[in-house]
Amino acid sequence: MDFLTPLERSVRMAAIRGRRNKTTELVLLTLMRENGVVGWRRQIDLPGKPDFVFKKERVVVFVDGCFWHGCPLHFRLPSGNRAFWAKKIASNRSRDQRQTKLLRQRGWKVIRIWEHSLKNSSQTIRRIRRALDAESNF
Ligand SMILES: [Zn+2]
Repeated sequence: MDFLTPLERSVRMAAIRGRRNKTTELVLLTLMRENGVVGWRRQIDLPGKPDFVFKKERVVVFVDGCFWHGCPLHFRLPSGNRAFWAKKIASNRSRDQRQTKLLRQRGWKVIRIWEHSLKNSSQTIRRIRRALDAESNF
C-alpha cells in the first residue's frame, strides 16, 4: 500500500514531527505567560490540532513554521527534489486552508501566526488579545 521512496518516507516523518513544532509553540507559550494571556488549553481535538485553544472565547491559535507552511517571505525550495517539495508544501498549504475554513464554519475564530512574526512579540500578543476581546464583546 505504500509506494514511498526512502527519501519521501523520511520527508513524511519529518513533516509529521515538524507539524507539531515544539520550539515555536513554546516561544508563543512563553510570550503569552509573560503577557498574562490566560485561559488557553492545548491538545484539544479540533481540525488541524490547533496549538492553543481558548474555549470560552472560541478562538484557536496556530503557529505556522515558515518552511513547512510555505511562508511567502521565507520559504525557499530546497535545491534537490524541487518538484517533490513544491508539491509537498502546496499540499500543506491547502490543508491549512481547509482546516481554517472548517474551524470558521464551526464558529471558531482562527489566528495563524507565522513563525517569523514571533520575533515581533508585542504585535503577536496584540493580535491574540484583539481576537479574545472581540469575542467577549458579544
Ligand atoms: Zn516567514
